[in-house]
Amino acid sequence: MSDKKRILITGGAGFLGSHLCDRFLAEGYQVIAMDNLITGSMENIEHLLDNEDFEFIEHDVSTYVSLPGKLDYILHFASPASPIDYLKIPIQTLKVGSLGTHNLLGLAKTKNARILIASTSEVYGDPEVHPQVEEYFGNVNPVGPRGCYDEAKRFQEAITMAYHTHHGLETRIIRIFNTYGPRMRLDDGRVLPAFLSQALRGENLTVFGDGSQTRSFCYVDDLVEGIYRLLLSDYPLPVNIGNPTEITIKEFGEEIANLTGVEFKPSYHPLPQNDPMKRKPDITKAREILGWEPKVDRAEGLRRTLEYFKESVLQ
Ligand code: NAD
Ligand code: UDP
Repeated sequence: MSDKKRILITGGAGFLGSHLCDRFLAEGYQVIAMDNLITGSMENIEHLLDNEDFEFIEHDVSTYVSLPGKLDYILHFASPASPIDYLKIPIQTLKVGSLGTHNLLGLAKTKNARILIASTSEVYGDPEVHPQVEEYFGNVNPVGPRGCYDEAKRFQEAITMAYHTHHGLETRIIRIFNTYGPRMRLDDGRVLPAFLSQALRGENLTVFGDGSQTRSFCYVDDLVEGIYRLLLSDYPLPVNIGNPTEITIKEFGEEIANLTGVEFKPSYHPLPQNDPMKRKPDITKAREILGWEPKVDRAEGLRRTLEYFKESVLQ
């Protein structure tokens, strides 16, 4: 039997999951990607299928999960992540955050594996504390349209901590803030794919509300480095990982128009219900505990992402 570390990555055919597969293979791990392809795509992992250290299993993790052989680590990233996705499939979203997480915690316990779960800045809801620190409990409407995602993730954190304290399981919780980069789905409705593909097609940019709401965008390689460090750390409480450089959505649209060489022409649409008005991570913990901070600024990250989108939009 190989002495390589073996890691299971759920949601491995998605945007973040596929980048994690790349990273852990590059670090010399055996990687199993498990995905039911509900929002992901085989195209994201096509380049890995011939790698003898890589295995893909098509499976819905909200049903029972079992796996032969040893397992050292689990990264639980399966979940719809874009608002239009989880609004379309709210029950699957609630199930993968709750039942799916329970199944994977059970698997981790059986295998004596360490598990890291992908939580989100959405646990802070429409925040009243700015920037958001891990100690803030959040401001979430459980019965609003985003409740299916936010509350699934809050439950996910709670059950993960319960397995840690009650069963002594080695657990890690990352709260991911808006991340972007190659392999985002063009039509996933998130602001970056929306603006970039609209700009490349010469369409108006769809700004929701007056565009004064803020987000802080992190390039995918920086996030992956943060995940890698957190997994290998010994810190069980939640850690924010994101880029603290905040920008309004309108300014972001202007930036994307500039980048693609078109005039900024917004078309304004109503702000979705419970859309957070501001978001920016406090990354003091990530800096102190993991020695992590983002390295790729937005100008560089957007340039790299544009290359990918150009190929997909203009092909
Ligand atoms: P994505 O939609 O690209 O990837 C999610 C993957 O999970 C997809 O491949 C999908 O098919 C798979 N999946 C969904 N339900 C499943 C199920 N029941 N069984 C098996 N596979 C299933 O989204 P992403 O942006 O890569 O997000 C990945 C994770 O990171 C999610 O848990 C999300 O909540 C979290 N996250 C992402 C961001 C971000 O900015 N991208 C921010 C915060 C949190
Ligand atoms: N947004 C927008 N136009 C779009 C898509 C999104 O103005 O075509 C706004 C959205 O209302 C939100 C922000 O951009 O305020 C980020 O949205 P996204 O769906 O990317 O992620 P969120 O952080 O809301 O989960």
